[in-house]
Amino acid sequence: MTAKEIKDFKYNVDRFADIEVLRYEVPGFDGLKPDQKKLIYYLTEAALAGRDILTDQNGRYNLPIRSMIEAVYVNFDGDKSSDEFKALEKYLKQIWFGNGIYHHYSMDKFVPEFSESFLRGQVGKLPAEQRPGNLNELCDVIFNPLTLPKRVNQADGADVVATSACNLYGDGVTQAEVEAFYGAMKDTTDLTPVSYGLNAKVVKRDGKLIEEVYKVGGLYSPAIERIVDNLTKAAAYAENDAQRDIINSLIKYYRTGNLRDFDEYSILWADDTRSQVDFINGFIETYGDPLGMTGSWESIVNFKNEEASHRTEVLSGNAQWFEDHSPVDPRFRKPVVKGVSAKVITAAILAGDSYPSTPIGINLPNADWIRATHGSKSVTIENITEAYDEASHGNGFNEEFVIDEPTRRLLDDYLFITDNLHTDLHECLGHGSGRLLPGTDPDAMKAHGSTLEETRADLFALYYLADPKLIELGLLDNPEAYKAEYYKYMLNGLMTQLVRIEPGKDVEEAHMRNRKLITEWAFEHGKKDNVVEMVNIGGKTFVRINDYKRLRELFGELLAEIQRIKSEGDYEAGRNLVETYAVKVDPKLHKEVLDRYAHLDIAPYKGFVNPRYTPVSGENGELVDVKVSYDEDYPTQMLRYSRDYSPLTDRK
Ligand code: ZN
Repeated sequence: MTAKEIKDFKYNVDRFADIEVLRYEVPGFDGLKPDQKKLIYYLTEAALAGRDILTDQNGRYNLPIRSMIEAVYVNFDGDKSSDEFKALEKYLKQIWFGNGIYHHYSMDKFVPEFSESFLRGQVGKLPAEQRPGNLNELCDVIFNPLTLPKRVNQADGADVVATSACNLYGDGVTQAEVEAFYGAMKDTTDLTPVSYGLNAKVVKRDGKLIEEVYKVGGLYSPAIERIVDNLTKAAAYAENDAQRDIINSLIKYYRTGNLRDFDEYSILWADDTRSQVDFINGFIETYGDPLGMTGSWESIVNFKNEEASHRTEVLSGNAQWFEDHSPVDPRFRKPVVKGVSAKVITAAILAGDSYPSTPIGINLPNADWIRATHGSKSVTIENITEAYDEASHGNGFNEEFVIDEPTRRLLDDYLFITDNLHTDLHECLGHGSGRLLPGTDPDAMKAHGSTLEETRADLFALYYLADPKLIELGLLDNPEAYKAEYYKYMLNGLMTQLVRIEPGKDVEEAHMRNRKLITEWAFEHGKKDNVVEMVNIGGKTFVRINDYKRLRELFGELLAEIQRIKSEGDYEAGRNLVETYAVKVDPKLHKEVLDRYAHLDIAPYKGFVNPRYTPVSGENGELVDVKVSYDEDYPTQMLRYSRDYSPLTDRK
């Protein structure tokens, strides 16, 4: 894509509540071979087929509420500029974005700004077959703030299973029961343990807990069958035998629901670094489960960006050097870092838990023993980071929050490259670094596991971003460049990420807790040397970094401690760090940040619409080519998905 084409591409698509929806381009798609395009096409179909699984995992009333609000939205024949209709439209856009009635990040239930009587009146006008049979129940869930208020509740001391509204546990199931259930199932001597609970809902039957497994013939079967059907079609266009084996092993796992089959698939997947097209499709990340066990369904289809991949190949090619020089206790380092592979990819479709809000990097598989023996695959999704970057130019953020002109210039010059490098280091090396001492339970950090793991990976990246090794490797051309990322990281962790938190609330999401933990800890421990300051200029608070070198050392010290905690399974120390630095918000600073941010009118959360793939058929109806287009707006895409990819929604 030339610079001019980038400029003409329309990145901004929609804006509502605290959300901005962007569009991303898929450069290079048209240049792929016809069979690669067909492969991608069927993989994108398999991706879209799983959309309703995630929505149902996120809350048991999500699908009927979404269907009802969509029906009202589509059938509405009144004044579309009225406040009630506009509020309903906003609520529907939020539901689409959250894949349910909870905010994707804060996990809080959306508050509708239309009246219950308006909704009931509109539902009454719907054709009988589109009216829900349990309207009173749905209205209670929508309008009563006390009913199922939070998708994932992590408050310390709460029964996080019983008080979370996510649909991963059945009625009347408690945290203690689930922990006992899996505690009895876990074989602690197993050196290759499966990821217990990853693909199942735990429910109570006759007073006993059982797993309802997500598989063909099990829970979510209609959607999973359609995924399998499209994976089968995709397999016919696999680039090579290894890739065909991967697809077939995933199909096998979807059929059996056996987690050993998932591990087999994950190993084949981690080993395949040759194919240009790649994808994930399944129950993967566990942030949606208060106990961090069940995977949220997601899919990303992508292909390798050969040019940009050079950067991550250099990093992974030197993985052992980074491991050997890391500031952690040598006992906790990996003597041999295996198979850390990395590449830069172009996303072709985002789905499930990666849509519309999406990660900018992926590092999988998650199972510790597979990572240790087979390595992991790590990617940076550059067409997504590019879209973020392009869409944010000139929004006034840096002028408001960055302390002075030289620092702003530093960010303009070096933030894009150092931000990408930070993601590369985090994903390629950070998560894969370090090792547990023999006998340490990988789940020892319990509810704080995700936060501390992200903290570890971020610290590894921050520490090395300032290392002269990156200059030596040709990845940066200026020894001062790292300061751009350091400044942005401290500013974000100490101040500006607070725009994502409502007044009076704590920080809860794992990545936000991780950033707060790192920055507050470094601020506190650098106080006596005046490393980082919060200064007041004209009534506004600014972050000033006085000693970047010392800040790097502090990152190294905290990395050593976090690695010790993880390696030894020191839960108390981990919990203590999280509780001390990562949770509580200074209400005065919070208010100031919110006020200043409000003036800028920037959405704190962003997500994407997908491109649209259109099959081109030959004379005999066979697939001959696939065209990509970027013309869909946000409601059009969401309504199309609800119409064409909703195998779990009962459409009478
Ligand atoms: Zn991470």
